[in-house]
Amino acid sequence: MAVDLRIAHCPGCGQVFQKNMRGMCTTCSDAEDAQLAAIERELRRDRKLDTDQVAARTGLRPERIRSWIRKGKIRLHEYPNLTDACDLCAASIRRDKLCTACANRIRSAIQHEYEQERLMKDRRRAANSFLFR
Ligand SMILES: [Zn+2]
Ligand SMILES: [Zn+2]
Repeated sequence: MAVDLRIAHCPGCGQVFQKNMRGMCTTCSDAEDAQLAAIERELRRDRKLDTDQVAARTGLRPERIRSWIRKGKIRLHEYPNLTDACDLCAASIRRDKLCTACANRIRSAIQHEYEQERLMKDRRRAANSFLFR
């Protein structure tokens, strides 16, 4: 009988580990817990810290903190200055992946594309109806 050894390479350290809910080995998930605890400790001391200040105080990279904000591992509502960054322009954001300006720009670009497509279809239909008259 084959035993299902559900193993994977840990994204944190590359070691082979038994798959689990966290998706990483115990060493790395323990390290992550300790880092998250350090972040929370700094924020409890001063809840007005921003992401870069927290990074400086904990010795962690700001990108790492931002990725935890995005994953919901750090709750923002208690900390007014903690922010994630927009995927496109790196502006400070507190929710989603894009700032309002980028989201609007993309939305209108999609709208424009859709509009162009509709116009093309109309034109083609007009040409066809002309041909088959
Ligand atoms: Zn690991
Ligand atoms: Zn943006």
